[in-house]
Amino acid sequence: CGVFGVYHVAEAASLTYYGLHALQHRGQEGCGIAVSDGRQVKSHKGRGLISEVFSEAPLQRLSGDIAIGHVRYSTAGGNLLENVQPMLSVSHRGTLAMVHNGQIVNATRLRNALEDAGSIFQGTSDSEIILHLIQRQKGSLLEKIRQTALQLEGAFAFLIMSENSIYAVRDRHGLRPLSYAKVQDGYCISSETCTYDVISGRSIVDVQPGEIVKFSDDRVEHFRYAPAERPAMCAMEYIYFSRPDSALDGVNVHLFRKASGALLARKDQGIEADIVIGVPDSSISAASGYAEASGIPYEMGLIKNRYVARTFIQPTQQLRDRGVRMKLSAIRSIVEGKRIILIDDSIVRGTTSRRIVQLLREAGAREIHMRIASPMITYPCFYGVDTSTRQELIAAHKSVQELCDYIHADSLRFLSVEELRSICKGGLCTACFDGQYVTELYDYAEKLNE
Ligand code: 5GP
Ligand code: SF4
Ligand code: MG
Repeated sequence: CGVFGVYHVAEAASLTYYGLHALQHRGQEGCGIAVSDGRQVKSHKGRGLISEVFSEAPLQRLSGDIAIGHVRYSTAGGNLLENVQPMLSVSHRGTLAMVHNGQIVNATRLRNALEDAGSIFQGTSDSEIILHLIQRQKGSLLEKIRQTALQLEGAFAFLIMSENSIYAVRDRHGLRPLSYAKVQDGYCISSETCTYDVISGRSIVDVQPGEIVKFSDDRVEHFRYAPAERPAMCAMEYIYFSRPDSALDGVNVHLFRKASGALLARKDQGIEADIVIGVPDSSISAASGYAEASGIPYEMGLIKNRYVARTFIQPTQQLRDRGVRMKLSAIRSIVEGKRIILIDDSIVRGTTSRRIVQLLREAGAREIHMRIASPMITYPCFYGVDTSTRQELIAAHKSVQELCDYIHADSLRFLSVEELRSICKGGLCTACFDGQYVTELYDYAEKLNE
């Protein structure tokens, strides 16, 4: 998912609309915006893309200079309208709106306890728990959010908006990215920094793991709700999920991917090949890094139909299969008779890789050496990236050679976890590669065996 917020900038809803457009790659199943004019909170949300859910009319109705918005990619909880965010809670003390990116791993026990204490939930997503928890705490809103954050385990970057303030909260490992920037006389808050280019944001600051940043009374204050723990930014944010023009905890995504490609090239010294091809779009950066480091020219051997949505992010396997077939084509005049280094960012289920190798062979490729700019994904993610069970993860059941045979490549290599870690100095979560989850798993521990 992607979250975006605006504090004290005129026409906050329009700005949020632009921000969410730049975050659309983080989720396409639903979206919404809540706005406050200082007295009243209004919202609009629906299932589908920003361009589908928002047209002129709903934006005009959303007047005010404080806003939060969300693009949804469902992991926990299905694609129900009730799960689309922002979520609102209305009480005699006022209205709160919330947007959340991540996944709470102790959600079931928190939810059961809340239900036993009388809470009534509208939907099935883990995000709704956050609002219920806040309502049950005592003290100032900051104190309530602090008490709530302390009870949540797992991955979260969330925003809470009241009539006149926004609170930005990041989990204590910093699994999901969150930052803010100065925009005109106010601030914008965003999952990814690519949004700030669109809206002329400057002076970007990362919300630190374990921090609450409060935007209120025309100023920004940082509070720590938990001691610093091992920082563990999701490696997949760098490898696949984020946009190349974003920086996560200060590290540019494109440069990270280029470095991963260069590391793959270094392991391939002396390999004989004619061209390097990246699978568009997410693997082009890594492929350019490989080409630069190896001296083998980069070529555009695969073309993407940009009007087909990202395959993976589709919720069912059937939709994903159809997506892959519509999405990519090989350029025969480039690949015919060539020995190709084919770079992709990751192998999850293996469907895409197998199909791409087949496409290139049909277009006359002579040899295909597949290089993956991440380690083998052998464990499921419970922190909000995808819903694959171990059963579906092809690398969990095959050796590299078996996998190479399965996708019909001439050779196959992955990046190691150590190589991945060497790329950026900040800590990384690498649980989907090595099973080293950074939190307890609670409700999800048993899913490890599914
Ligand atoms: P597979 O070969 O496993 O079918 O697909 C891997 C491809 O799916 C990669 O090219 C990657 O860019 C793309 N992909 C789409 N969504 C995701 C995701 O959520 N996680 C990962 N790791 N890869 C994804
Ligand atoms: Fe990211 Fe993998 Fe960790 Fe999930 S398990 S947060 S996808 S690195
Ligand atoms: Mg890809």
